[in-house]
Amino acid sequence: MLNFDSDRLKEECGVFGIYTPEFEAARLTFFGLFALQHRGQESAGISVSDGTSLRTRKSMGLVSQVFTEDDLRALPGHLGIGHTRYSTTGSSKVYNAQPIYCQSQVGHVAVAHNGNLVNAIELRDEMEANRVVFDGTNDSEIIARMLAQHIDADPIEAVRIVMSRIRGAYSCVVLLPNMVIGFRDPNGVRPLVAGTVASGHMVASESCAFGPVDGTVVREVAPGEIVIIDKDGMRFEQGIAPDRQAMCLFEFIYFARPDSKMYDTSLYSARERMGEELAREHPVEADVVMPVPDSGIPAALGFSRATGIPFQEGMMKSRYIHRTFIQPDQRIREMGVRMKLTPLVDHIQGKRVVLVDDSIVRATTTNQIVKMMFDSGATEVHVRITAPPIVNPCYYGIDMAHKSELAAAKWTLDEIRDHLGCTSLGYLSIDGAVKAVGQPREKFCLACFNGDYPIAVPKNLSKDAFDLSSRIKTNA
Ligand code: SF4
Repeated sequence: MLNFDSDRLKEECGVFGIYTPEFEAARLTFFGLFALQHRGQESAGISVSDGTSLRTRKSMGLVSQVFTEDDLRALPGHLGIGHTRYSTTGSSKVYNAQPIYCQSQVGHVAVAHNGNLVNAIELRDEMEANRVVFDGTNDSEIIARMLAQHIDADPIEAVRIVMSRIRGAYSCVVLLPNMVIGFRDPNGVRPLVAGTVASGHMVASESCAFGPVDGTVVREVAPGEIVIIDKDGMRFEQGIAPDRQAMCLFEFIYFARPDSKMYDTSLYSARERMGEELAREHPVEADVVMPVPDSGIPAALGFSRATGIPFQEGMMKSRYIHRTFIQPDQRIREMGVRMKLTPLVDHIQGKRVVLVDDSIVRATTTNQIVKMMFDSGATEVHVRITAPPIVNPCYYGIDMAHKSELAAAKWTLDEIRDHLGCTSLGYLSIDGAVKAVGQPREKFCLACFNGDYPIAVPKNLSKDAFDLSSRIKTNA
């Protein structure tokens, strides 16, 4: 059985916000969320405002499963925010779906968040001691309720207060009756980009969300910056002083969609260059270069270009099987998994294969793919990985694994190669990955590769400590 999903890194969330007097915000937000579906497939939600009151619909499932035509019609308004979620803190339950909707002294506020707060536990304890009542178990609700506490005359000032209290990775969108606000943490760990659409403006996790709504990117929201979108247009204000810039390198390697741009760099091109660097760092004689679809495709093309070894697809990934459909019944799960990734035996048989993938986490998926290659008649399988070895967990919003589960943290390179059962193994170096993106090393978070955490993580904090559900009774 090839369990393709168990060992993939999970992106943590996508956010979207729009103000456009000419169009229904709900429909455009729906389109934007489609483009951000890769950032979270567990739940989706949209909040809209008609200028007076806010309405929200959110539920478990993909964007296309959560919203019907009737749902969109029941969300009238020209301002909206949306969210796609993969749970990194808080269990995967509907009460943790976003946007989070709160009553404040001056009306309703809805908030959607991408990232993780490293001081979530102390803030929640403090707020509960002050009789703030929470509905869910995720750290994003802390942001929403803190904002609701302070949002009286000046919402921007309230955002500044929140930014001065929370620590960690956050790219957020906020909906008020007459305003959409976006803000980004002072290290800029998670992406956030602002631009124009029709007669209005928008903000989204990635530039790929602009295409479906015919929007145009103006620029990335800077670290520590707030973007305010209302009837007067779009303006930027500094919310908190920027810290050392530390955008997640994994956004460039794997998480973000290849048709997005970050740091003004096409991610597709950056991934092709990673493949070229990989070929320079770990050359090999082989007959074909094959990607693990879909994320390995640009790097495999780059590897092929740099070496002259022909690129050929070696397996097909079903576009239509989704983890949501893979039920916890073993027999049905096996069927679903076999449908997800199947070998093209004629392309593999008798060949020396270079197999290009984006990352190895626990090494439980890659070894199954290697086995599939040999079972299909490959004579050699040379695994090449565009992410440097992952030796530390992520505390900034990526669901990775415990350190004890990370293959590169517990095994040597030779041991990993033996575990995978491949002929040879090569990882791209940190310098190689950074060079491929084309930005200075100092502009990235590299913590899962080198342990240099740009935002201090409390000592002895386990990855599970962020899941507030283990220690918090919910009202849901
Ligand atoms: S620790 Fe790794 S995955 Fe997490 S933000 Fe930093 S580079 Fe990205």
